Amino acid sequence: MPEMTAAQRRWESWYQAFISVVEAFPEPVEVPCPEGDGGFIRLTYYGLPGSSKGSVTAWCDRCYHGIWLGRVSIPTGAQVYPFEGGPEGRPEIKLIPEA
Ligand SMILES: [Zn+2]
Repeated sequence: MPEMTAAQRRWESWYQAFISVVEAFPEPVEVPCPEGDGGFIRLTYYGLPGSSKGSVTAWCDRCYHGIWLGRVSIPTGAQVYPFEGGPEGRPEIKLIPEA
């Protein structure tokens, strides 16, 4: 297997952080930001009302970097936002490009 580039490793560390939060759901879990800034990972799901599939951003509550996953299962009980708007007052997420 070829070595991952730095960009791939960065994206992968974000993806693993996302998985850690999903696996713990609905228990809240403090998964540290992969950027090492002391922030924690939050998830915002987007989808149509009642749909079990949607999209998600996994983002840091300190640096507001994050990743976007276009098609994921939405866990039962998760808050889901319409595609055109996330949580009120949250700054724009600076998306990390999928390497
Ligand atoms: Zn961060």
